[in-house]
Amino acid sequence: MERKQFQLGDIVQMKKPHPCGTNEMEIIRMGMDIRIKCVGCKHSVLVPRAKFESKLKKVLRSAPSQEANTMVE
Ligand SMILES: [Zn+2]
Repeated sequence: MERKQFQLGDIVQMKKPHPCGTNEMEIIRMGMDIRIKCVGCKHSVLVPRAKFESKLKKVLRSAPSQEANTMVE
C-alpha cells in the first residue's frame, strides 16, 4: 500500500465529505493528533493520526515546501 505523504498546510481530501458539503480540509496542526480545518465552513476537528491516515483519500494541494525556508517578498 502506498504511504500517503502529507505535511502542515496541505489541503487534503477525505473519504467522507464534511457535513457542510465541502471535501477539502487544511492540515493546521501536526502531532500525535492532527487538526484539520474545513475549507468550506472553517470548522476544525482534531483526529488521531492513525484515524486521519485511514480516512485520508488524497492530498489535493501540497503546502509550499518548508525546507526551502527562504524569505521571499
Ligand atoms: Zn465544513
